[in-house]
Amino acid sequence: MAKYSSKINKIRTFALSLIFIGFIVMYVGIFFRTSPIIMTIFMILGLLFIIASTVVYFWIGMLSTKTIQVICPNCGKTTKMLGKVDMCMYCREPLTLDPKLEGKEFDEKYNKRSYNK
Ligand SMILES: [Zn+2]
Repeated sequence: MAKYSSKINKIRTFALSLIFIGFIVMYVGIFFRTSPIIMTIFMILGLLFIIASTVVYFWIGMLSTKTIQVICPNCGKTTKMLGKVDMCMYCREPLTLDPKLEGKEFDEKYNKRSYNK
């Protein structure tokens, strides 16, 4: 169970790692300062990663508007849900909006379109 984390948190981690990759790429570029062309390529590449991360952060913002606020039955805190199945941001309690899935083991596949047909 613990291997699942809230979807928004996962995307946020991804965006954060993009920033780190961007900075690492730019840092590598400094080693090529004798060759301005290679250095520029690295700088642009690093900048692209940072732009990509901004896009992902923007996407998180968009997703956040689609989330449903629910009160976790386990810890009583207000958490956000994305999709039919998600988990509590605080205690990782699996949550579902679909009564059919209630009590079933948490599975990401319930969110896939093919399963819901
Ligand atoms: Zn909870």
